[in-house]
Amino acid sequence: MSKKGLNSNEVKKRNRSKILRILRNGIEISRKDLSDQMGLTKAGISTIVSEMIEEGVIIETGSQENGGLGRNRVTLEINKNFGYVLGLSFTETHLTLLISNVLGQTIDLYTQDYSQLETVETESLLTLVIDKSLYLLWNNNIDKSSVLGFGIGYIGGLKNIDVKKIEIEIKKRLNIEVFSDNNVKALAMSQMDFTPQDKSDNFLFVKYGPGLGMAIVQNGSIINGFDKRAGEIGHTIIAPHLETSCRCGRKGCLESLISEKGIIKDLEEQGDSYLSLILDKSRSIIDYQQVNSLLEKEDPITLSIFQPRYEHFSKSLANSIILFNPEYVCVYGSIFNQSKIFSMISDSVDDYLGTNTNVKVILSNLDLNNSALGSVALALRYTFYNNGAFKETIDENLNSAPI
Ligand SMILES: [Zn+2]
Repeated sequence: MSKKGLNSNEVKKRNRSKILRILRNGIEISRKDLSDQMGLTKAGISTIVSEMIEEGVIIETGSQENGGLGRNRVTLEINKNFGYVLGLSFTETHLTLLISNVLGQTIDLYTQDYSQLETVETESLLTLVIDKSLYLLWNNNIDKSSVLGFGIGYIGGLKNIDVKKIEIEIKKRLNIEVFSDNNVKALAMSQMDFTPQDKSDNFLFVKYGPGLGMAIVQNGSIINGFDKRAGEIGHTIIAPHLETSCRCGRKGCLESLISEKGIIKDLEEQGDSYLSLILDKSRSIIDYQQVNSLLEKEDPITLSIFQPRYEHFSKSLANSIILFNPEYVCVYGSIFNQSKIFSMISDSVDDYLGTNTNVKVILSNLDLNNSALGSVALALRYTFYNNGAFKETIDENLNSAPI
């Protein structure tokens, strides 16, 4: 393939990718809108759009009135059934597997709590994931050939699960491209790509419970850092003099100060009266609804346990805002859905920042019970949106051994 050929493919890919992103985020987009937004001629847009319609990537839909002239103009949409992706997420307690269309809409979902399994190790989970993936496809009449990719989102520090091995084996056994990333980063992609809420290309996405993680989104990309560890807000050092222990091996880091495990220990020390706040000790689940109402009543013991923790958390959020200059901080986790807890944290962030910085903490509208949404967004970026659903013809010569 000539150098010129490669370049024109790159340009084509970029234009198609841009078209898909405009269609994903907008409504009733016409060829003229695309030409205006992309700064390309109408003829140029028409050529690309025709090709994409021919391939079934986009479709023409109903028409709309064009001003008062009585002429209709055709609008365009992404063909949501062009292809599908599978998404898998591993958390500390369960796995979620889902299948979605190219618009990120869930078609079917499967969840498995580890506590109901005889063993939790790589090989048995792999067999389960492969079986259930094939079942989800069969159950929804989806042919494996229309699956564009498989995304995996995982939390750090999983002890018995080798995510890399699972990734390699899924690719081998299902013959599907597999992409994996940290769960928080994957969820931030879902927030960015598939929710109409306060669109921004510069924000911080923070996930709390269990564990605490952050994705730093700048100019629409997630910052990885040297070792893919950028954004580990949970392991920033807050109080090194406190002898806490954390899975990261450090003392006094934020996650160890605000972790559910620590909260449960403090609640147990209060005697029987606060035990009802612990919903499940082995899985570190706290009844935040009850915590919220006790905080609303300004119950002194509940305040003494939670207020200092939320102060630590707010301080770190404020410092992150100062460091990364985001448009807002989007928070995800069941605690934030409790109004008193949310306002305690966001008010405190406002206090720390003062009047010169007007960055708000906002609540994510992503489904809390479906962390695999992130895995789907990850797979869709790689297999559909970033490459404009463009399949390059592979030059046979490139695959031959060097002479
Ligand atoms: Zn830590």
